[in-house]
Amino acid sequence: MIIVFLDIDGVINIWRKPGKDPSGRFDQEALNNLKLILKAVPEALMVISSTWRFHYTLMELRGFFAEAGIDAERILDVTPDLRRTEGQIKHYPGKNEEIEAWLFQHPEVKRLAILDDVSMEDMVGFEDQFFQTRFEEGLKHYQSQRIIDHLRRIRSALSSDN
Ligand SMILES: [Mg+2]
Repeated sequence: MIIVFLDIDGVINIWRKPGKDPSGRFDQEALNNLKLILKAVPEALMVISSTWRFHYTLMELRGFFAEAGIDAERILDVTPDLRRTEGQIKHYPGKNEEIEAWLFQHPEVKRLAILDDVSMEDMVGFEDQFFQTRFEEGLKHYQSQRIIDHLRRIRSALSSDN
């Protein structure tokens, strides 16, 4: 199984950029670049790591992607919510911790890529899998090509354990 951990804001939703997809939720160009990845690596499934998962259920998120022309079945899951409050103190875990927690529950997953616009410091431990987008421009075409190359490389490197 190949998993793409997908952030939304700053990856396929760009606040001020015109040119939304017909569903009105995502950036058409960035969405097309995501679709290129999904087409080139048909066995890749997505796990949503965006804060959108705090506002929408997995079913709703799947619906959004379906409206944008992405097969809802490609959305496997969301990362766990590890936010917690101790007394007066709120703890906000890094996204890398939430991805780590998801992977701990799915030890069979060894092939992955992470698409997010967070800083490198927020992805410690995943330097080789992290593809950083820019908040104001989202997923670019050259990045989708790099991600496809990465996913294909790990697919062939690990094809013996398929
Ligand atoms: Mg983001």
